[in-house]
Amino acid sequence: MTIALGIPTLAGKRASPGPRPDGATELRDSWGRVATDLRISLTDRCNLRCTYCMPAEGLPFAPSDQLMQADEIARLAAVAVRDLGVRQVRFTGGEPLLRKDLVDVIARVAALGPRPEISLTTNAIGLASRAQALADAGLDRINVSLDTVHAATFLAVTRRPFLARVLDGIDAAARAGLTPIKINAVLLRGVNDDQAVELLEWCLARGHQLRFIEQMPLDADHSWERDTMVTAAEIRASLDESFALVPTTTPRDGAPAELFDVYSGGEVRGQVGIIASVTESFCSDCRRTRLTSEGAVRSCLFSHAEVDLLGPLRAGASDSTLAELWREAMWAKPSGHGLDAGSFATDSFVQPERTMSAIGG
Ligand code: SAM
Ligand code: SF4
Repeated sequence: MTIALGIPTLAGKRASPGPRPDGATELRDSWGRVATDLRISLTDRCNLRCTYCMPAEGLPFAPSDQLMQADEIARLAAVAVRDLGVRQVRFTGGEPLLRKDLVDVIARVAALGPRPEISLTTNAIGLASRAQALADAGLDRINVSLDTVHAATFLAVTRRPFLARVLDGIDAAARAGLTPIKINAVLLRGVNDDQAVELLEWCLARGHQLRFIEQMPLDADHSWERDTMVTAAEIRASLDESFALVPTTTPRDGAPAELFDVYSGGEVRGQVGIIASVTESFCSDCRRTRLTSEGAVRSCLFSHAEVDLLGPLRAGASDSTLAELWREAMWAKPSGHGLDAGSFATDSFVQPERTMSAIGG
């Protein structure tokens, strides 16, 4: 069943993807891409209110009986891994650490064969007391969102005074071996765009890999503006003033971040990634498929349609029916998000109704 979200679909180069060939087993779309990387949102709730993601107040949350339960997540993950060729599973949200059953969910997914690589994207609040249990359950790696190491800026970005808890969580993740720790940062003009070098120094000193993410129009306040967003080119220029950035030779292999070795004083200090989702989009090599916390497939962050799997699962659908619904949803994946400059669809881009917190970033 396709749920139309009430907004015109993103303009594409053709009206329809055409019929799906018989016999495909994997999650192939009509542009030839195959999704092997699954992002599962565990909740649309969060204990921060980052300005580029959630509103200060007033966002309605899904009722808890509409969220996937641990056994339902495990069942859909099993279909993805066993029948659809998914090899990486990343848990996200909202804030996934708000799920009390997170350790159980991770243990169930770690028990699947073939064993997928399991990672978590989190704001790290509450991680200090849970990092070791998550690692013991099978969590391999962690990405933590941290846009600044200044308490006042943290409050301005997240609207909450919790920087110390985040830093404690990162330290605990390192002790638990959830490495390499990747730090995700969004730069906002006039807020933290003057802190890129300082944040990179902070990460290099601790052996964490910093990745700057271009701000995307997925915020509840609809405050994103193409003319004021901080671009990847600006971020590189600002880092170039203090470091020498040399593109790595490792194949990108579908990864969203362009990676650079960071040199200073003639020595390599570590790496930095830049995710230029808007200005240098990587849609043509996208390998992602997403499940919302309510158990619907989204083929793209910017989709305007979702395909419900949880309803059919609760109504008794077989694994093969769920797999077919998932394949059909991915077949219709658009070629790109249409945000990149020069794209055919730039002028007709329509922001999805769901915010990043409700999709699962
Ligand atoms: N709450 C967790 C966290 O913040 O890491 C997981 C969910 S959050 C939606 C996942 C990632 O999306 C975070 O790294 C966050 O910085 C990023 N994000 C949220 N809104 C964004 C936006 N409008 N543009 C770019 N990245 C965004
Ligand atoms: Fe919460 Fe993550 Fe969104 Fe910030 S980016 S409001 S931490 S879901």
